[in-house]
Amino acid sequence: MKIIEFKNFSCYYKQKKEYIKAIDDISFSVDSGEFVVVIGESGSGKTTLLKACLGLANFFEGDLVINGVPIENFDLKTGNCAYVRQEIGLYPNLTVYENIAFPLRVMKTPQAEVDERVKKIAKRVGVEMLLTRKPKQLSGGQHQRIAIARALVKNPRIIYFDEPFSNVDPLLRSDLRLLVKQIHKTFKPTILFVTHDLGEAFTLADRIIVLENGKVVEEGTPDYLEKNGQSELVKEFFKR
Ligand code: ADP
Ligand code: MG
Repeated sequence: MKIIEFKNFSCYYKQKKEYIKAIDDISFSVDSGEFVVVIGESGSGKTTLLKACLGLANFFEGDLVINGVPIENFDLKTGNCAYVRQEIGLYPNLTVYENIAFPLRVMKTPQAEVDERVKKIAKRVGVEMLLTRKPKQLSGGQHQRIAIARALVKNPRIIYFDEPFSNVDPLLRSDLRLLVKQIHKTFKPTILFVTHDLGEAFTLADRIIVLENGKVVEEGTPDYLEKNGQSELVKEFFKR
């Protein structure tokens, strides 16, 4: 079942009186439970693509349908999705526990359930010993684990990742990738993950979409692209 569907979708930013096209007539879809990674260089439109999925695009044309709902009618509160970014806003004055609990507090979830869910997910991502700390007492890798916990705590159907590990040191990065991969296996959320790191894309994805200047230039499984990829980005990565 298709859960995210772009059809001839374009997206613009307005600067003074001009419109800049950031996404240029893309069409692709993501199946429910699939792990799709969009790769592209800086400025290729990756963040814009995710913002559009979150209903944050101001100027667009074409169709984007999420969970059967056209993006025009999309409501973040009921959308049942989560968003993990590179510079995550963990709330500095809240403990790790309350940071993870935050999405549940917004939904007025009863305390007993909050407690159960926060502890369970904290254990799952390996931060259960950090629950009483404040964000400034955390390393970069711990920070991102907590961001992932916060994203997962309400069991979202879709999780959007925007280069979540680019500020984490390389050794920890592979741990975090593994974590995301395991989470996908366990909970089977739909994941749309954007990155400029092809190594990351090729280890994580069920399917990869290559974005260049706002356009989808090719897509396929990691295996397929490794052998047949024609985009400069992919050819350069495999030095073909
Ligand atoms: P990426 O995440 O792949 O680096 P972005 O989606 O951030 O790319 O940007 C895509 C294009 O849109 C770039 O040309 C960028 O300069 C432009 N852009 C992004 N945000 C804005 C903005 N707020 N105002 C004007 N142009 C923007
Ligand atoms: Mg970006």
